[in-house]
Amino acid sequence: MTRETDAAADCYGLSPRQIATLPVLEGESAYRGRQIARWIYEAGARRFEEMTDLSKEIRARLESACVIGRLDPESEETAADDGATKYLFRLRDGRTVEAVWIRDEGRDTLCVSSQAGCAYGCTFCATAAMRAGRDLTPGEILSQVAFLRDAIARRGGSEAHNLVFMGMGEPLANYDGVVGALRILVSRPGFGLAHRRITVSTVGLEPGIRRLTREPLGVRLAFSLNATTDTVRSELMPINRKYPFRRVFEALREYQERKRAPVTLEYVLLRGINDRVEDAERLARFARSLQCKVNLIAYNPHAFARYEPVPDPEIEAFRRRMLPIAGRVTITVRWSKGRDIAAACGQLATRTGADEKRPAGGERDRRAAGASGGRPVSR
Ligand code: SF4
Repeated sequence: MTRETDAAADCYGLSPRQIATLPVLEGESAYRGRQIARWIYEAGARRFEEMTDLSKEIRARLESACVIGRLDPESEETAADDGATKYLFRLRDGRTVEAVWIRDEGRDTLCVSSQAGCAYGCTFCATAAMRAGRDLTPGEILSQVAFLRDAIARRGGSEAHNLVFMGMGEPLANYDGVVGALRILVSRPGFGLAHRRITVSTVGLEPGIRRLTREPLGVRLAFSLNATTDTVRSELMPINRKYPFRRVFEALREYQERKRAPVTLEYVLLRGINDRVEDAERLARFARSLQCKVNLIAYNPHAFARYEPVPDPEIEAFRRRMLPIAGRVTITVRWSKGRDIAAACGQLATRTGADEKRPAGGERDRRAAGASGGRPVSR
């Protein structure tokens, strides 16, 4: 960040149009917004004085009234298998969020957080232990992407990386922050990412899915399903009581039809909970009916985990059981990466104790259980 001035307007996270309408640029053409956006999102400028195609007078005005509030991580950890590096970002209010760079067979995936903490209380998720936090601003989301993008470039990673909103928080619960960031991510000036390389993963906030369907964005959608009956899903993910998954399926159907982009069903396998033969068969039927891709995810347990992972051979058996029923839908397995750094979203911030509000007594283990913001990390 260039300066710590509470009264200063933060440009980072604003669209070119929003930048152009800042009071400090009154009387300037709309083109100034595009110039400044190009500097901060494409050239990575941290100070207005770097913007050499602006007059000295405009640069001085900007320096006096605005900041470029891009954040950098305060710590990082890389897994021994080199499959994932996790970064902890401290926000200006002291809260922490994390982002993960996952490397897998030449593919790079950036996993970012959308909220500091989460109110949805999924029983397998580490972020749930932090309970409700706050929504990230577009600038706080873009800071994670910009840092990871630059880290990949510095270390010779692939340019064509994927970006997933599977970190801490529920992206559609922070609709304005996430969509504000998405608009800049897919634009020029902006990050210029292909819509199809971005995936928003949701626990199934039906109104948010319907709203996203009407946005001029072609990002991919993933639905964190994790159960094949309402009883089990409501136990794992209380949001199912408000938006039962079959109702969410209808919203997914509409999204797929309108966007012509296949939705992915994500399924974290938990031993003895959702890994029965009947689950495999029902999941295959759902996928076939929706024509959705399925991503089976190896559970990444942590210190407070209440659940156990399903052994790898049994995950493969689950997948094979699905095959004859699922028809032509794609079924992939995301084997866990970076277990030694707890590289599932929600775990690093929890481990630092920075934001965690652990439930008292016996509730602690139940609420703090599990891996990832429900999901990410690995293939
Ligand atoms: S899985 Fe996602 S929605 Fe559920 S508690 Fe974790 S971060 Fe929140």
